[in-house]
Amino acid sequence: MNFVETQRQLGITPLNAMIGSINPLFRMPFDTVNKYKGSVIAESFKYHYDNNEFYRDLCLRKEISPNDIQGFTDLHKIPMIPVQTFKQCDSHLLMTSHLKDIEYEMRSTGTSGIPSVSRRDRVSVDNAFESVLMTYREFFRISRGMGLFLFPPTEEMPEMGMVKALNIFAGMLDGSANLVKKITFNPAHAVEKLLSWEGKHTRHIIGPPFLIHRLVKHCIDNEIKLNLEKNSLIITLGGWKQFTGKEIPRKDFNELCSKYLGVQIQNVRDMYGLVEANMLAVECREQEKHVPPWVHLSLRNPRNVLEEVEYGQRGVIAIYDPTCTSYPGFVLTEDVGYLKEDTTCECGRNGQKLVYISRMPGVEVGCCAINLEKFIEEKEKEVVSQGGTNV
Ligand SMILES: [Zn+2]
Repeated sequence: MNFVETQRQLGITPLNAMIGSINPLFRMPFDTVNKYKGSVIAESFKYHYDNNEFYRDLCLRKEISPNDIQGFTDLHKIPMIPVQTFKQCDSHLLMTSHLKDIEYEMRSTGTSGIPSVSRRDRVSVDNAFESVLMTYREFFRISRGMGLFLFPPTEEMPEMGMVKALNIFAGMLDGSANLVKKITFNPAHAVEKLLSWEGKHTRHIIGPPFLIHRLVKHCIDNEIKLNLEKNSLIITLGGWKQFTGKEIPRKDFNELCSKYLGVQIQNVRDMYGLVEANMLAVECREQEKHVPPWVHLSLRNPRNVLEEVEYGQRGVIAIYDPTCTSYPGFVLTEDVGYLKEDTTCECGRNGQKLVYISRMPGVEVGCCAINLEKFIEEKEKEVVSQGGTNV
């Protein structure tokens, strides 16, 4: 009897047992966890195959059925949904659940202006919150302190995936303040806020890299050196390539955060995620991005995405996320990266470690952070052209 069957017999949902066990699973041998994740992903595949006509047709054309997907070694055969499909006007065809059962819609708009819509039903929302919350607890152990949020309040942008995912930190901290209001950001206010918390709280800064970079730039220009606490974290999510096309080099970013914000370099942590998936790959203190133990990443040959590339080789990132019930969570992204050959880590965790490189050349630039940057720049230009001040 395999992992899934054993749990099911006890009336337990195997996937949720895994999410709740993130801590021990990260410390189990790679092969053991692969067996477990192979079973839950195979179960998820069967669920979508049985309940989603559009997806079943796609599988039939590729001559793949649940009989072919028995466990971990078969995962690469699972037909993937290219992420562009979420942008098409008939994207509702992707749905496994009925539209009337959709609880939450997330959107992300690329430079083309066509939104990518991902719809989640009750179970997908349950799983998404559980997955993100457990991942944050595992990597950050946050339960106290203050959060300087360099992103808009969720009520201003309720459908933006990045905002929704980062806002989960609010419930884990003693308090927080959103420094992006009505799509404007004033770094001087951010510094004031940080100083007002000094000596009273551990201060954390959370947001997309470009806004944290703006804060640091403001400190450089005004010769301000902050001294955050020993356990303060800088947590980033969103693209490293700015809207202007200029990339922020990670090493420089770490050093600037250490010099001007006074945080330990090992506490600067980036995360990788996708609006269409319910997972975040979060950096440990070694700054390695760990893939959650219930998710499988498969890196594909850019010239032939049906072919998997070896660990250590660059490829297009495909995500197999079994937490999604509203549509098949088997997404071929437009992101390029590689998996580290060594599946162990100095931090004590085992499993896949992702190195994100860039978006695929030629695809439109579009992620939450880049859109936010574009909105802020446009807003600032508007204010200036109306003769107002930019601060
Ligand atoms: Zn690690």
